[in-house]
Amino acid sequence: MTSIMHRHLRQTPVTAVGASGLSITDSAGRRYLDASGGAAVSSLGHGHPEVLAAVHAQLDKVAYAHTAFFTTEVAEELAMRLAFNAPGGESEVYLCSGGSEAMETALKLARQYFVETGQPQRGRFIARRQSYHGNTLGALAVGGNELRRKAFAPLLMDVVRVAECYEYRNRPETQTRDQYTTVLLDELEQAIVRAGPETLIGFVAEPVVGATLGAVPPTPGYFRGVRALCDKYGILFIADEVMCGMGRCGTLYAIEQDGVVPDIVTVAKGLGAGYQPIGAVLARKYIAQAIRAGSGIFQHGHTYIGHPCAAAAALAVQKIIERDKLLDVVKARGATLRALLREAFGSHPHVGDIRGRGLFLGLELVEDRISRRPFPAACKLHAAVKVAAFERGLIVYPMGGTIDGERGDHVLLAPPFIVSDGELGDIVTRLADALRAALAQVRL
Ligand code: PMP
Repeated sequence: MTSIMHRHLRQTPVTAVGASGLSITDSAGRRYLDASGGAAVSSLGHGHPEVLAAVHAQLDKVAYAHTAFFTTEVAEELAMRLAFNAPGGESEVYLCSGGSEAMETALKLARQYFVETGQPQRGRFIARRQSYHGNTLGALAVGGNELRRKAFAPLLMDVVRVAECYEYRNRPETQTRDQYTTVLLDELEQAIVRAGPETLIGFVAEPVVGATLGAVPPTPGYFRGVRALCDKYGILFIADEVMCGMGRCGTLYAIEQDGVVPDIVTVAKGLGAGYQPIGAVLARKYIAQAIRAGSGIFQHGHTYIGHPCAAAAALAVQKIIERDKLLDVVKARGATLRALLREAFGSHPHVGDIRGRGLFLGLELVEDRISRRPFPAACKLHAAVKVAAFERGLIVYPMGGTIDGERGDHVLLAPPFIVSDGELGDIVTRLADALRAALAQVRL
């Protein structure tokens, strides 16, 4: 191995040589059931013939044309489709190559909006503690994941930090759900006031938290409260739907279920479903119009923005989701998977919580179910589950292990939308077996 692409540089990664449907095959001929779509990416499974054909056709037509000179039909059609279906409609679209790029774009777009509208003093973002928004420097700075941030702390811009909305772990028994939500919103308002509302650009949050906590949805009313505070203080609301968006939660955008319209939404993973690297930023029209009416140039750009082959993949994926009514399938299969998980783990002594939306479901593993005490970080239970599942031919996305060791262990399930009921059963059976083996190992 000569690359430094893999996080664990001392391990030799398994080589994938084939993939079809929910299955990935390695060079030794072993097959793995992909129950997380990688990291909530492969929403149509692997090797979907229509998506492959769309990419091939675009390769033949125009593989690449720089946006300084050209647009392409396929990029325009995708952008129109995304703009039309965006939360609240009335949006403009920026196509890039992935989630972090989408977040960088969103942060810069939000900042430039205020520069163009005569509020250049707005220079800081407000974001949540348990959060992940990408690994490039801007995205890493707004994210609160201490493990990922630590080595780069001197390079990161200063961000105002508030608590995440994480009912299972953070709501005291003495509080109702509504009271907990009010406490969070009060904290947010106090943080805004303390920082000086006129100095803030935007509040950044994942509608359903994915990459640091397994599929944690907000409490009812939380994002309505966030929206109201952003409006009150003239701050933009940036919803990071890189992981939870594009149908994963049963609606095209997860935030639709919270009944609010963000100013800017970012998407990536499920947009191209892994067939090409692509992300997008959807900005409400007034943001783009302010820049158009001001300097006329968004001071941003990458060589591969609006890439035609990436756009062709995403367009094909999104058309299939609509044609095959896959959002309904996500809702139905999500309910089935949740029921299977409840059956298998509902009274499991080490599964504290089963949660999520659509086919974006998480388990929180705890040492003690009553007190909700997590396993000690040193156990690395999440990592043991990943390995045990992989050995059983199952791919799940585990998370855990912060510096302070308080985050606990989570398992994220995000199977492709085309998963069958039989495969869902198989996923849960293998996961139960893997969890048994992992628990036995950490208790040694
Ligand atoms: N935001 C969220 C919510 C994510 O889950 C991720 C990736 N896990 C990113 C941003 C960054 O996306 P990418 O890895 O494509 O750069």
